[in-house]
Amino acid sequence: MDYFRYKEGNLFAEDVNVEKIAAKVDTPTYIYSLATFKEHLQKIQKAYSELSPAICFSVKACSNINILKKLVQLGSGFDIVSGGELYRVLQAGGDSSKVVYAGVGKTDKEIVESLKADIGYFNIESEAELENLIRLAKQQGRKPKAALRVNPDVDPQTHTYTTTGKKETKFGVDIERAAKVFSDYGDNDAVSLCAIHIHLGSAGHTVEPYREAIEKVLKLVERLRNDGYKIEALDIGGGYGADYITGTAPSAADYASVIVPLLKGRDIKLILEPGASIAANAAILVTRTLYVKTGGSKKFVIVDAAMNDLIRPPLYGAFHFIWPARVEQKYEPKYRDKDLKLKGMEVIDVVGPVCEGADFFAKARALPPVKRGDLLSIFAAGAYGFTMSSNYNGRRRAAEVLVDGTQFEVIRKRETYEDLTALEQ
Ligand SMILES: *Cc1c(COP(=O)(O)O)cnc(C)c1O
Repeated sequence: MDYFRYKEGNLFAEDVNVEKIAAKVDTPTYIYSLATFKEHLQKIQKAYSELSPAICFSVKACSNINILKKLVQLGSGFDIVSGGELYRVLQAGGDSSKVVYAGVGKTDKEIVESLKADIGYFNIESEAELENLIRLAKQQGRKPKAALRVNPDVDPQTHTYTTTGKKETKFGVDIERAAKVFSDYGDNDAVSLCAIHIHLGSAGHTVEPYREAIEKVLKLVERLRNDGYKIEALDIGGGYGADYITGTAPSAADYASVIVPLLKGRDIKLILEPGASIAANAAILVTRTLYVKTGGSKKFVIVDAAMNDLIRPPLYGAFHFIWPARVEQKYEPKYRDKDLKLKGMEVIDVVGPVCEGADFFAKARALPPVKRGDLLSIFAAGAYGFTMSSNYNGRRRAAEVLVDGTQFEVIRKRETYEDLTALEQ
């Protein structure tokens, strides 16, 4: 699932000792593995190859332009949700015809920029947005393609905050209303409404919701085609699982084994928008232990990373496996899970320095003995990690490092104090 492995008690990112990177770049630092990105993307490409899909990596999961450049080289398109993400994709040399743009609140400025860049599809989230796109397309003399985002009312069985395909969320239009949107706007001359988009939400652990949603949506496609509308593409979004815990997420092949047969022979172009399933396992967040502290009956390990660096545990209640970067060989983890039962472990909370009770990475977690100065690795931090980071508490954002085999390179410098106030001068 990734290329972060222990060798003789030392954690390696591919062929580079993580201690060596921390010594050079300091902590906290995101360390990405290029081979892991490659492997996950190529597994998806291979699993769906029969349908020659467009695979549009979801930029909001991980948006460093040096990583986007590598994904461009590997043939990836991109799923964006803002003008800023379009800018990043173009800076990285991405092919704009392989860009799909979702988001319930696209501004006029963002729409015009995307029209000028001639992106692949606008994923339309409401009638009001479509009317605005029609107006701006006419003004700009462009004829963009659009997909209607429909809400299939399927529960991906994930956290409420990452559920986006249920009726009561703000995303897309109800599937019952979709036919009406086509009859109102399907024949207009300014925007070619010729595709359907769905996105169920993030990090589900089963394939079943996809089957259910695609079956619903295919009925809609059939009906629209019978009514004379040309539906050339179906964008089934992202949300495919990632192995935060070893072996818990369905593989790309597992998803494809259900999805490909549903779509084969239907003369419809498939678009996928994977984010976490490509990026999550591709990074660790490396942090140093500042203090070990006993409070009441609890023991705390206070590290130099904080919720401003990785907010998923307090935001989503997300689990991240955490382990020291150097351990006695008997403590080398054979797999990553919630409670590894090894002798001599201590139950501790791993917390950051920020002044919030929500600033934690793990609660009541069994870990091998940790002391001041030890490096800890927070695993599966590559998706919604750095991209959700902030400067809260006057903290400089972490550095990002990309490892490729025996080589590593800083792909984003650690911010400086001057950076913190630069825009306030
Ligand atoms: C966030 C998002 C994705 C990616 O979701 P993952 O869970 O990272 O795969 C795909 N499509 C849309 C529209 C999104 O908002």
